[in-house]
Amino acid sequence: MSKHKIEWTNKTWNPIVGCTKLRKGCKNCYAERMAKRLMHMGQMAYDAAIGDDGRWMGTVYLREDQLCKPKFWKKGCKIFVCSMSDLFHEKLAAVARDRIFAAMLSAPQHTYQIVTKRYKEAAGYTEHLMEVYKAAGHCGRKAIRDSVNIHWLFSASDQSEVNEACENLMYLQVATSGLYLEPLLGPVVLPGHVPLDWVIVGGESGPGARPMNPQWVLALRDQCQDYHIPFFFKQWGAWEEATMAAAAAHGYIVREMRQGVIMPANPNRYKYLNLDGSDYQNSPQIGATPMARVGKKKAGRILDGRTWEEYPTETTSV
Ligand code: SF4
Repeated sequence: MSKHKIEWTNKTWNPIVGCTKLRKGCKNCYAERMAKRLMHMGQMAYDAAIGDDGRWMGTVYLREDQLCKPKFWKKGCKIFVCSMSDLFHEKLAAVARDRIFAAMLSAPQHTYQIVTKRYKEAAGYTEHLMEVYKAAGHCGRKAIRDSVNIHWLFSASDQSEVNEACENLMYLQVATSGLYLEPLLGPVVLPGHVPLDWVIVGGESGPGARPMNPQWVLALRDQCQDYHIPFFFKQWGAWEEATMAAAAAHGYIVREMRQGVIMPANPNRYKYLNLDGSDYQNSPQIGATPMARVGKKKAGRILDGRTWEEYPTETTSV
């Protein structure tokens, strides 16, 4: 897979296949659904990754045929590495991971974007990475740092995962790092003591998508502005806030009452979302946000009247 319509990158590169669900954000894994589809379309690379039940089998392996791709893309671009897996999955052979990093080193015209939910493993690997690059003939820490441009993004969905991610981000031996908060499933306060170069936020789409409260996104945008962190808003996902204007634009009907907006009684399409992310059905809270499932396309990616597409300042380092 090469060209891909993902808002914050130019291409995807998938030199490995397979994964295992680990965190809350993995519940409705897009890569698992896509791998199942590709397998049914006859792509044999996915045969050993997806079981008869259509789920990840827990095997993770290198795709030799994909390894050299970045070298053949002559024009420098942003490449999302392993959009269909997790480069720091424990089942991936260490030598395979080294070869993937060596492939990045051999095509330094690109910016590589690595998104991982395995924070500790990624942080531990960066020290080892120095040795890999030295072995490839790039001696000395500065020479290694100047050799390839990688953005390290730790993927988290709520405050506890952000805390864990940031604890590990602090020890990352790299220059450009940040948080990838998609699907965002709860309010997040950014730890002020952790230097972040980028924050990406997005809601969930596809079957079983969970709603994202607009207040969480606005609060993150504000924190990023306060800390001067580039902020990228990717998408609302399948759900939007059910305001009178949104309902009129997208063909559903809500009623405005003194206590807020009243929506149709269809829990699959309309629900209230507590500000703290807890289940409204079990513990209704005052100020819960009415949400309507309208699909990713209609929900769009406008936040507070505009799109947000800030990127980290360009650096040339690992
Ligand atoms: S880490 Fe990514 S690819 Fe792996 S199961 Fe979770 S969401 Fe899917």
